[in-house]
Amino acid sequence: KLYNQVQDLKGSIRVYCRIRPFLPGQVSSSTVGCIDDGNITILTPSKSGKEGRKSFSFNKVFGPSSTQDEVFLDTQPLIRSVLDGYNVCIFAYGQTGSGKTYTMSGPKIMTEQTQGVNYRALGDLFKLAEKRKGTFVYDIAVQMIEIYNEQVRDLLINDGLNKRLEIRNNSQNGLNVPDASLVRVASTMDVMELMNIGHKNRAVGATALNDRSSRSHSCLTVHVQGKDLTSGNIIRGCMHLVDLAGSERVDKSEVTGERLKEAQHINRSLSALGDVIASLAQKNVHVPYRNSKLTQLLQDSLGGQAKTLMFVHISPESDAVGETISTLKFAERVS
Ligand code: ADP
Ligand code: MG
Repeated sequence: KLYNQVQDLKGSIRVYCRIRPFLPGQVSSSTVGCIDDGNITILTPSKSGKEGRKSFSFNKVFGPSSTQDEVFLDTQPLIRSVLDGYNVCIFAYGQTGSGKTYTMSGPKIMTEQTQGVNYRALGDLFKLAEKRKGTFVYDIAVQMIEIYNEQVRDLLINDGLNKRLEIRNNSQNGLNVPDASLVRVASTMDVMELMNIGHKNRAVGATALNDRSSRSHSCLTVHVQGKDLTSGNIIRGCMHLVDLAGSERVDKSEVTGERLKEAQHINRSLSALGDVIASLAQKNVHVPYRNSKLTQLLQDSLGGQAKTLMFVHISPESDAVGETISTLKFAERVS
């Protein structure tokens, strides 16, 4: 099994970098020097006033004016492979405010044009399933969970924040969080409704002071089961769409108590994720999945035959250059 895992990894991890545009009214100089296909150069101011440059390479770089449509087009083949029985993982990584939620879900006030990967992915799967109707019958169901301080919670029930869920790997039905609500969906409307419930429940945990959504990982999991009408064979695929907690390092001298605990959990789980993806990219035989809830949850969809895509998000403003460089270094390590 391990041997196969090592063999099959070639080219299975993709990294796309996306640069958020300046927000309306924002006045700042940009850290982005130049973008050329998969290459990006960041301008780094130094104390002496002399500008430095650092270049990074990824599978693709989406500039600040790229649209949701363009981003989706380059993600679509990966998403469609779920219907062929592949497991897929799509992450959004980056500091708070860099555009993770925008890419995965969309802006707070959404139009059809600004819908993010989540909605488009489900819509596309429904369309493709409909097209294959003569040869396959598909069943599509979703779960939506959150990982906060290394605890897993159901976002699709109202009191989910009070109930901790267990992760099980290798369960028979392919559900690795068997106790989380599993809801069948058949239309984009169904998905919209569920996502609204999920977003509302996520906000419930937030106090006035802290926006919890930036300090927890949220994961929309799409389970697909297809029956081949000619052979009677059943195929299963699953796709995790993950909006990760903000990757910014917090100043340990400034935070205490609950805030410090949160920060430590985030640091630990993001570095566990980095370690797993990097060790897959290096084709290591030992992959350290057990080091965090996040990597345990995604174990079946990282490595082996699974396909992984990481969107790394960066903010354009020069104030953010430190975080931008560390984000790009993280991404370079896993690609
Ligand atoms: P994060 O989830 O990483 O904290 P958000 O997705 O909430 O960041 O983005 C921060 C702000 O920037 C939001 O107001 C969002 O609508 C806006 N934004 C992010 N990316 C884009 C983009 N590509 N185009 C237009 N606005 C964006
Ligand atoms: Mg967000």
